[in-house]
Amino acid sequence: MPSTRMISLYSCIGMLVLSASFPLPGGATEVRPFSGNETHPLIHLIAQSPPPTSIRNIRALRHKQYTRVVLDLTRPIHPAPQEHQTATTFQLELPNTQLDKSTVAKSTGDSFPLQLDLSTTSSGSILLTLPIGGWKHYKWYVLNNPARVVLDLYPMAEAAVVIKAPPSSTPASQVGPPPTPPPPIIKKDLVIVIDPGHGGKDPGALGRKGTREKDVVLHIANHLRDLLAKEGSTKVFMTRETDVFIELEDRATFANTRKADLFVSIHINSHPQASVKGMELYHFGEASDPRALAVAARENGTPLEKNAAPWQFILADKLNDKKIDDSRELAWTTKNSLVKFLDAFYKIKDHGIKTAPFFVLRMTTMPAILAEIAFISNSTEEKLLQSSTYQKRVAEGIFNGLQSYITPLQTASR
Ligand SMILES: [Zn+2]
Repeated sequence: MPSTRMISLYSCIGMLVLSASFPLPGGATEVRPFSGNETHPLIHLIAQSPPPTSIRNIRALRHKQYTRVVLDLTRPIHPAPQEHQTATTFQLELPNTQLDKSTVAKSTGDSFPLQLDLSTTSSGSILLTLPIGGWKHYKWYVLNNPARVVLDLYPMAEAAVVIKAPPSSTPASQVGPPPTPPPPIIKKDLVIVIDPGHGGKDPGALGRKGTREKDVVLHIANHLRDLLAKEGSTKVFMTRETDVFIELEDRATFANTRKADLFVSIHINSHPQASVKGMELYHFGEASDPRALAVAARENGTPLEKNAAPWQFILADKLNDKKIDDSRELAWTTKNSLVKFLDAFYKIKDHGIKTAPFFVLRMTTMPAILAEIAFISNSTEEKLLQSSTYQKRVAEGIFNGLQSYITPLQTASR
């Protein structure tokens, strides 16, 4: 671990070199055309300056119009990636970057849906190489919070299958074999389990005006169920539809036995400081900060220290990578839609996506998220939580997010 002084010196060198050579406004991504086998001398200099980033994970998701490849990084990438193209390949060079063995294993594994190659160059870059065949065009961009490089690949239009009825005047003997009919469209109903937190003897968090978490989340869940039920292609189940107490374990078992595709748990946050407000969405993982751990401990109903070693919890039976990736994607999609929708009506403080060892997220086998809608301990948000209009809008925001997540899944399952 370099000292703080070293880090600031590194960033200083990085900044100087970057601003002297690539004057980009607002941290925009630079795309520099590649010319032959040259390596820009600055690349060597920069590669020695800031600490390298590491590709800690690779994900691929098929959407309706494109396939998205995401490279999750341990820190923002500097300098910007460069693209190179040959007659048969497209390459994205990530300077000053390292590769986790698990990432390579994942990208070459059977379950990874497309062919690509990740290799290390002598100048300390990672080269992502894709065969061009099959892709019409691509877009890539660098995003932060969390640091990642996103590559969207647009496939060639599939060769159109034209099926024509033979002209009625043509004798049948001259027609030849009938064209093969297109495969039938099989659309699987997605199963969604909505989990309104608490209930019965467990009121959940309480507001100063007496608002109870268990009541508000049930209202929101009921609205969400109604919205999803209107969509013919989803089956919705609720872990509770009335004010009853249900163990966390039974909630997870309920979703698992119904073979749910998605699990959405709805909760309301609380904080000792009344000024704290806002929304945050969780998926399972090590607590992203001490407060995330406190939130999970409260929702799990266990003392804080019992929640402190989530990675042992994961490693014990290897939570599958796909579930973690999909849950993260589900959390982002839902949070973005929810915040965007509510922003039109209210001032929403967006705390973003966090991870924490929530029991229901750990014990469910499908992509699972837990939404902490607002803080019942904040008087403004408690008032909002009591409003039936607000409850409906929250449901609608979550519904929009689920729809954006579901649509590519339904397309892919055809
Ligand atoms: Zn709760």
